[in-house]
Amino acid sequence: MRKRLMFITAGVAAAALALSGCSGGDAGTGSTDGASDGGALFEVATDVQLEGSPTYDAMVKADKVRIGVKEDQPGLGYLDAATGERSGFDVEMATWIAASLGFDADKIEFKAIPSANRESAIVNGDIDYYVGTYSITDKRKEQIDFAGPYFETGQGLLVAADNDDIKGEDDLAGKTVCSATGSTPIQNIKDNFPDTKTEEFDTYSQCVEALNDGKVDAVTTDQAILIGYAAQFPDDLKVVGEPFSTELYGIGLPKGDDALRHFINTMFTNGGDTWTKIYDATLGASGTKVTQPAVDDY
Ligand code: GLU
Repeated sequence: MRKRLMFITAGVAAAALALSGCSGGDAGTGSTDGASDGGALFEVATDVQLEGSPTYDAMVKADKVRIGVKEDQPGLGYLDAATGERSGFDVEMATWIAASLGFDADKIEFKAIPSANRESAIVNGDIDYYVGTYSITDKRKEQIDFAGPYFETGQGLLVAADNDDIKGEDDLAGKTVCSATGSTPIQNIKDNFPDTKTEEFDTYSQCVEALNDGKVDAVTTDQAILIGYAAQFPDDLKVVGEPFSTELYGIGLPKGDDALRHFINTMFTNGGDTWTKIYDATLGASGTKVTQPAVDDY
């Protein structure tokens, strides 16, 4: 097995990752609740010293890391109810961060938190960080901080495979579209599509169910999420049109923990080909090619 060491320095923080040569693309799952931890894309090779981060200090004290995720978004954050295995790009990103902080998969506690409850979960200290299709916005930054961005996508539309009416966002007048409460896509519809009716649920999988039942005309959220649902129901659903917003995903962090934010940003910047390996093993498996966005100081 090919091993490559990569050293990461973030101010006072230093971590070293050893990539396990995972050429077959079998991603590590990092789940504590039943998932196997074989075939990880990364592992920690040396001790981490991260000073001045209250969040990291609390993790060390608790000897675990609590990560907020989605678990109904195939390819991104998904829990297989039958096997208890978690998978997806966000799950792997979350696990990579934990590994870089010195926490193996068996020290991770994943908590499913829907879009509307993310800021409060971070503010209340229910989780140490959040990784789940979480767009960086100024409004959210009033309460929390973001590391990243680590992924770029845009708002899209999912419709029934036999729907010929809706080909893009210009066809939404008089239609009912479904999205998640507290999300940027539902806000965009409410703000900018006055002739479109909305239906909302806690999760996107509830919207997909409503679409499959013919109760709504479309589901709208990030295209990266919709592609996963279309792949789940290839005969029944299709993604239409071009993305009509820019969504930059960030890691949700407690406000003011600059040490942890800089640590993660440096990890993303100096991560070598870890990002690509994770992408190829998860979202990229569908054949869509994208590249890692440049990290910014949000
Ligand atoms: N990225 C958008 C957001 O953060 C939609 C996806 C989601 O709700 O997680 O609101």
